[in-house]
Amino acid sequence: MAEELNMDEDARDREMEAEYALEYDAQCPFCQQVLKTLQVVRLLRSRVNFTSTLPRRGRVIICPECKKIISAELAGFA
Ligand SMILES: [Zn+2]
Repeated sequence: MAEELNMDEDARDREMEAEYALEYDAQCPFCQQVLKTLQVVRLLRSRVNFTSTLPRRGRVIICPECKKIISAELAGFA
């Protein structure tokens, strides 16, 4: 039971979909940290206009240090 609670907390802590290793170090434009990884957070559509043709999902790439958004994209949206 206690373990289950810990897992929930852990899941909440790790809101990102995944972490990616950078092939070369890069610097965050916001916090100036030299980064070896970037985190990817899933973007789920929560509200939409009935006539919207925007995709249901996307992703946001954030700095693992300051959590600021470096890049965002919508799935299948060229
Ligand atoms: Zn940063």
